[in-house]
Amino acid sequence: MSTSTETRNVIIIGSGPSGYTAAVYAARAALQPLVLEGSVTAGGALMNTTEVENFPGFRDGIMGPALMDEMRAQAERFGAELIADDVVEVDLTGDVKVVKTATDTYTARSVILATGSGYRKLGLPREDELSGRGVSWCATCDGFFFREQAIAVVGGGDSAIEEATFLTRFGSKVYLIHRRDELRASKIMQERAFADPKLEMVWNSEVAAINGGDRLESITLRDTVTGEERQLDVTGLFIAIGHDPRSELLTGQVDLDDDGYVLVGHPSTATNLPGVFAAGDLVDHHYRQAITAAGTGCAAALDAERFIAALD
Ligand code: FAD
Repeated sequence: MSTSTETRNVIIIGSGPSGYTAAVYAARAALQPLVLEGSVTAGGALMNTTEVENFPGFRDGIMGPALMDEMRAQAERFGAELIADDVVEVDLTGDVKVVKTATDTYTARSVILATGSGYRKLGLPREDELSGRGVSWCATCDGFFFREQAIAVVGGGDSAIEEATFLTRFGSKVYLIHRRDELRASKIMQERAFADPKLEMVWNSEVAAINGGDRLESITLRDTVTGEERQLDVTGLFIAIGHDPRSELLTGQVDLDDDGYVLVGHPSTATNLPGVFAAGDLVDHHYRQAITAAGTGCAAALDAERFIAALD
């Protein structure tokens, strides 16, 4: 275990669009930020997808990993220090913030939290492999790719209905797959869904397998009452069973909402602790887009810069 003696201006935890954007801004403000990127998941959620068509500036779209490489290189160009390591412990309560990885301890005057959130998965064998190849967690991001195709949505809450209803704009048919014979979603959302001629409810069913070659071709459905299995031909599968903020490290440190998202004083990115700011999907369970994450990452760096300027 080594301890870095220098107290930095800013440590950024996380390397998705919010973390790297914060790094670009903080580096250009001469704050020499340190970014702890995470190990296996450096680059964030977009490392697991193929084409991103809605990030402004790329008229022909860009592959998710290529977009993240660009952001990383841009942060590095202005002098951000990037370390692909996981933060395992933080103490953010004092004037000097302490951030630990398994091997090193770093200190800083301010910290930007940008660890994102994880979509819940079904836990099926081909799920990760076919992510971006028919399997998706985001209708806003990927619906457009499934024009005139058969799509399945899994889930039963408001967000599943919202995704399914949105996807009827694109798909030839949208199946909403639910384990039970009634939905958890609000009445008004249900009525809207039931009235949609393109949307078909598939009750008492769970996805037992995800099938295909290079791309999704079908799913196997299991009847939750009889156990019978059948195949449903779809080229899109949207998994809408919830998402969890990566805020385990922060429990007992910064204020979180009931679902574990970090609370900030909108439109500022300030948490309840002076010098601690938060951005991206760790805060936002509403929009969850790369561009909104990048936007709040920018805001967090500007907030940190002003905080540090006021200390000097
Ligand atoms: P993330 O991108 O999740 O990044 C969080 C980072 O924190 C990761 O780098 C992780 O390594 C790091 N981290 C976590 N814990 C630690 C720790 N303890 N120590 C150090 N680092 C840590 N959005 C769009 O706008 N367009 C799209 O086309 C699109 N497609 C998508 C496709 C898929 C498959 C998925 C999953 C999401 C997609 N999204 C898309 C949503 C978009 O990816 C997210 O909204 C965005 O990445 C959120 O950015 P973020 O920086 O908040 O978090």
